[in-house]
Amino acid sequence: MRILLHRADGKTEPWIKDFGKFLPEAEIAIWHAGEKSPPCDYAVVWAPPETMLPELADVKAIFNTGAGVDALLKFGDALPRHVPIIRLGDAGMGAQMAEYVAHAVLRYFRRFDEYESQARAGTWAPLPQYHREDFTVGVLGMGALGGQVLKALAPFGFPLRGWSRTEKNVAGVQCYHGPTGLDTFLRGTRVLVCMLPLTPDTSNIIDRSNMSKLPQGAYLINVARGAHLAEPDLLNLIKAGHIAGATLDVFRNEPLPAQHPFWQEPRITITPHISALTLRRESVQQIAEKIRKIENGELVDGIVDRNLGY
Ligand code: NDP
Repeated sequence: MRILLHRADGKTEPWIKDFGKFLPEAEIAIWHAGEKSPPCDYAVVWAPPETMLPELADVKAIFNTGAGVDALLKFGDALPRHVPIIRLGDAGMGAQMAEYVAHAVLRYFRRFDEYESQARAGTWAPLPQYHREDFTVGVLGMGALGGQVLKALAPFGFPLRGWSRTEKNVAGVQCYHGPTGLDTFLRGTRVLVCMLPLTPDTSNIIDRSNMSKLPQGAYLINVARGAHLAEPDLLNLIKAGHIAGATLDVFRNEPLPAQHPFWQEPRITITPHISALTLRRESVQQIAEKIRKIENGELVDGIVDRNLGY
């Protein structure tokens, strides 16, 4: 069995080592731009260039070493339709997302940013504490990662709500679904967390119209994709005092350009797309298990529905 490996950063050795551990029967071929690769059974890629697409036409499956597949599906029909795309399911990212989002929620709830600027100014001044019962956290996307975030928040006692495409029933979480459920979901959400895949239906979903439905003083945490957020709308709503602030891990242009106004807005906390990194060992182990199942004729989960875009 041969696997075609694409790593944009060129750091292929550790991946080869981990495949040697979890799938020793596989030979790993590294994809190089401008070189014809040998025939391969599977491809393992992250955000490959368009020039790699012809090499993906004859594999049994394309494994995407991330949860989001927008960087693959953007190629549309240039990406061979008959080859299944399999994304990572959690693979250690859920725990990282849970840490990141819980930290951002608690930091806002306990007003740490305000205390930090007070401390810089040498000011000792207790601020009124927010009420837990008024602090509804709403998570857009209740999948592998959104589900873990909701679980991690449960012990803090905030009212929790989630929004998904299909109907769900999760203990301790008020569940909403579909376009008709979005308005009610937003109107009661104090902290909005975006954990959606980027698809034609979810692109720009955090725009002026939807953010205006959040209560005054709402807070935004975006850990999904930059294109979910209409960036100028967020800035305008923060300046107008409707949105209290935001923690953003993802941006339309990454790295965030030096002249971007987000850098100058103290109510926006910026991190460089690190909320949940792909963990190589966990990813290779998951991919190896799925390849074994496919080879045994068994079904695997995580196959992307191209019509839905995730
Ligand atoms: P999943 O596919 O497991 O879950 C996606 C969730 O979004 C599901 O609950 C799904 O609903 C819901 N959803 C999708 N489309 C719609 C829609 N049109 N309307 C309402 N709900 C919708 O994905 P993951 O949880 O694994 O990952 C989510 C995203 O997180 C990734 O696609 C990626 O963009 C982002 N991500 C960001 C990282 C970072 O470092 N910043 C790292 C990893 C992921 P349903 O359950 O009904 O299908």
